[in-house]
Amino acid sequence: MKARIITLYDKLLLVLAIGSLFAVTLGPELLERTVTITPQTVKHIDIVSDESVGGNSVVRWVNKSTASWSCDIGSAYEYPFCLSQMYLNKTPTEGINLSSYPNVKIWLKYQGPANSMRLTLKNINPAYTNSFDLSTSKYNTLELDVNNLNLPVEVTLKDFRVAEWWLLQHEIPLEHSQSEFSNVNIIELQTGTGLHSDRHTFEFIKIQFEGQILSTEQLYFGIIILWVIAILIYISQRVILMSTEIKNREIIQLDLIAINSVLNIKSEQYKAEAKTDPLTGVKNRAGVRDALSDGYENSKNDNEPLTIILIDIDHFKAVNDTYGHDVGDEILKGLANVLQTNTRENDTLARWGGEEFLLVCANTNNKNALKVAEHIRKALEDAHFHNDMQITASFGLATLADESIDSLFKRADEALYQAKENGRNQVCEG
Ligand code: GH3
Ligand code: MG
Ligand code: MG
Repeated sequence: MKARIITLYDKLLLVLAIGSLFAVTLGPELLERTVTITPQTVKHIDIVSDESVGGNSVVRWVNKSTASWSCDIGSAYEYPFCLSQMYLNKTPTEGINLSSYPNVKIWLKYQGPANSMRLTLKNINPAYTNSFDLSTSKYNTLELDVNNLNLPVEVTLKDFRVAEWWLLQHEIPLEHSQSEFSNVNIIELQTGTGLHSDRHTFEFIKIQFEGQILSTEQLYFGIIILWVIAILIYISQRVILMSTEIKNREIIQLDLIAINSVLNIKSEQYKAEAKTDPLTGVKNRAGVRDALSDGYENSKNDNEPLTIILIDIDHFKAVNDTYGHDVGDEILKGLANVLQTNTRENDTLARWGGEEFLLVCANTNNKNALKVAEHIRKALEDAHFHNDMQITASFGLATLADESIDSLFKRADEALYQAKENGRNQVCEG
């Protein structure tokens, strides 16, 4: 199996690594979102003075389209005020959720002698708001120092506090006494406290609420989760890949073992075939070499007697001439079989050439070898071949003396010649 160097999983990990780097460096900015409130985006703007509660302060528009208004504070009411109310939705009882926009930027202009003004984010919650009385919306208020109105004024939602008088007036239970921005319907701009009979001019330019789709903690948590999932997937696919690879290797190993054993068997067969005569199935000259050299060594080293017997079929030419060469071959096979069957276990029979055979009798003296030769001669004489034919052989026998193998064979050859001379079908000793 061809293993790919870079897998799909490696590529995914690379993409994840680059993505994580981007997310960590640019993520917080990319996730930023804002809600911007301007005189143009609000649905409705009101201006109200303390006249509604018996005072004599006078509020009037300077320019309604820029939400600019002025207030002449009167002294008839104990806590004189003017204010503008900006409705964020057409339906006054519907607000917007600003809870996830913790940073607030405020652009406002003020002219007058006061030191402060109030900015209120009114929040509706059925738990304390009566939809017929919008004064029951929660007063999340921020007192702004007008002497420091550098634009924009940057605050956070946490800087807004619920007005004390509102909590008291509406008897709000403790669990609802914290500031809340989940459903802000009105932004209110109001004159500050401790005012004298003077003119105050306000211009509302813009308020921008800023937040993130995900908090930085959520972003990092998400990245960590993605990495954990990616690593788990990576490890499990590695495990699967490795186990299939191990299985494949095991299969290949078994195949190799099988091939090896077939080759071993084959090579044993070839070795055996190289030492076997293809016609008769008995050993050939190469096959008898070991028996001869072992016998020679044992004779020299251990004084074990070694006898060889040369066997030549009598008048075989006549057999060929009578029945043809093919039948001659068959008869040759049959008589080789008779010879082999009557050969002792420790002796080695080989086809020496043509219709001549050699029998190597290990650890056998000439007396015993004579018996062996006589036994085989008799067996051959008694055997029947093609057309009930009788075939005999002549035997030349020699036992190794203090001589070379060549000399031994020469003597066996001479004995064989002698057997032929004496009338064949007999054993002679050289
Ligand atoms: P003898 O040995 O008794 O003197 O007579 P012979 O006819 O056997 O004479 P010799 O040993 O000289 O001749 C051997 C003959 O054996 C010659 C050949 O026709 C035959 N022969 C040798 N090898 C083969 C063989 O592989 N197949 C067949 N069919 N005949 C063979
Ligand atoms: Mg011959
Ligand atoms: Mg012969």
